[in-house]
Amino acid sequence: MGSKKARPTNQTASTARGYCAEKAGRKFCDMPEMATRQLPPDMDPRRASFVIGLSDMWVNGTVVHYCFFEHSKHDSPSSWTGNAADKRQVRKSFQAWKDLGIGLEFVEVTSPDEADIRIGFDQNEGSWSYLGTYPINRLASSQRTMNFGWSLTTRHGQDTALHEIGHALAAKHEHQNPFSGIAWNRQAVYEYFSGPPNNWDEAKIGHNILNSLNESEVEGSTWDGDSIMHYEFHADLIEGPPPYDSTGIHPADGLSAKDKAWAKRFYPSLKKKDYVELRPFESEVIQLAAGEQINLLIKPKVSRKYTMQSFGESDVIMVLFEGDSGGEPVYLQADDDSGTDSNAKITQRLMKGKTYVLRVRLYYATATGETAVMLW
Ligand SMILES: [Zn+2]
Repeated sequence: MGSKKARPTNQTASTARGYCAEKAGRKFCDMPEMATRQLPPDMDPRRASFVIGLSDMWVNGTVVHYCFFEHSKHDSPSSWTGNAADKRQVRKSFQAWKDLGIGLEFVEVTSPDEADIRIGFDQNEGSWSYLGTYPINRLASSQRTMNFGWSLTTRHGQDTALHEIGHALAAKHEHQNPFSGIAWNRQAVYEYFSGPPNNWDEAKIGHNILNSLNESEVEGSTWDGDSIMHYEFHADLIEGPPPYDSTGIHPADGLSAKDKAWAKRFYPSLKKKDYVELRPFESEVIQLAAGEQINLLIKPKVSRKYTMQSFGESDVIMVLFEGDSGGEPVYLQADDDSGTDSNAKITQRLMKGKTYVLRVRLYYATATGETAVMLW
């Protein structure tokens, strides 16, 4: 959660109190534990870390559906139903990410069965979200993938909404960036977060704060203390380097420049020129950097069963949709060959006169390997 900032405000009475309250304890985003993807133990660690680092990303161009649980309609607990102002703030925050010009679309739906992101507002819990596509095929549609545990209409709340949606786009905690150089006062961190109102145990504190990510899980090699994905930390929790041991870390409000760059790198806006036609029996060579994606258009001249497959020593995820620009694309199938010696392969009946899009995101390719996709 964007646990941003208790910059003094103009409200004199609350300024000092606000800061003390901050030190005494603010609630922070509490991400659910997620199983690490199981990969062969003898896999090259660099390759494994790319696969793990990119595993929960959406393929770019996906229409991501979200819905709010409503007790009156969904037979969900009444505590999950949110108020109008908080829901408005969530919609605004999806729009704020979209306004960066990213290639994902966000569409609100009323049925949890149709939603990828299912949102509750249980105020007895913290705020949290699963990462990206992790809940798909793991969580039932009656389960939440995101919760907001406090009002979203304050400055802190507005950042919380952006932060949890950041997780839903597969962004991780920036304070766990291995390049941060932050030396924690671990004892103080344990004391602070094990106390109220967070009351976390040691494992949770490790999971949300102290455990560093792999280098491949973060964009670039720099750390961004202003990221929306960074908590606020007061100085007592940090041993160094200066000046953070005396100033603490107080991220600015809203999305930082690096947050925006991250979103545009993994989810760039998609224009016509970004689509390449894939014809039967022709192979399309893929030259991508890890994390990048190619978008292949398929326009069958005959209705029949087709097979599309990747070739070469690489790890990819391949997702097939029906439809392109007009209307909403319909998800058909996906295959992910990462961590295996086999290739990604989809077999599907395609209809003459329709258009399909095959989106292929590269996790990792060996230095010598060349990757291609073929349709037959
Ligand atoms: Zn978080």
